[in-house]
Amino acid sequence: MLENIRVVLVNTSHPGNIGGAARAMKNMGLSQLVLVDPQDFPSADAVARASGASDVLDAAQVVGTLEEALVGCSLVLGTSARDRRIPWPLLDPRECGVAACEQAQQGAHVALVFGREYAGLTNEELQRCHFHVHIPSDPAFSSLNLAAAVQVLAYEVRMAWLAAENQPTKTPKLEATAIQSSQPVTADELESFYAHLEQALVEIKFLDPAKPRHLMSRLRRLYGRSEVSKLEMNILRGILTETIKAARGEHSEREKVDV
Ligand code: SAH
Repeated sequence: MLENIRVVLVNTSHPGNIGGAARAMKNMGLSQLVLVDPQDFPSADAVARASGASDVLDAAQVVGTLEEALVGCSLVLGTSARDRRIPWPLLDPRECGVAACEQAQQGAHVALVFGREYAGLTNEELQRCHFHVHIPSDPAFSSLNLAAAVQVLAYEVRMAWLAAENQPTKTPKLEATAIQSSQPVTADELESFYAHLEQALVEIKFLDPAKPRHLMSRLRRLYGRSEVSKLEMNILRGILTETIKAARGEHSEREKVDV
């Protein structure tokens, strides 16, 4: 589906920006690059900036006019550094990502069109687009680097694509850690922690079993308030184990808790 979305760069002056755009595309799973009358291409600068994405550059189609670049496209999205170059239906990058994905999913071809570094797209070129897309940058300094603008839209396309495919946007490993670290402890785990805590406090002579006063109930109130997770409980239990060993003069390599 992402192969149905092409990135069109019009009359780019700096080959480095073509390479940067290729890299931005490949990071986000896009591969179809079309160059309209580039000023300097192929170029070693483009390859250098593309880093590992020179396959996108190698497969890039070079054409003479924007019309040729748009052949077969039923949705054309033109980007502009200014929000209202000419009055036209306007999308923000998020809406652009969703619209591009929806069309591509239905088998239609979509073009994301980017302009010249110094002059953007001409009014005539902008009028060939169904929608204009403006990245809501600071109006006092609104123009992004060309490859950076490609990155923003390619990212939005990817987010829309991941949502459409029901794919997670968080890596499973991190998600699992987050879930594990936020899982609350159970009442019985908390009870054995209090027993362990009491034992440690006696060992270090902070708590006199003959005169316990209200210490344990106060500590229960403290820990009861703090919504300790399973991961945090493991850390506390590790500290208690080592405290007891230290108080007894025993030394051993503590198994490290992965915090
Ligand atoms: N001086 C030009 C700036 C062009 S920047 C002008 O005022 O139009 C080069 C290209 O990067 C633009 O043609 C557009 O494709 C993209 N771009 C830069 N900033 C952008 C923004 N804020 N929103 C959308 N596209 C942007």
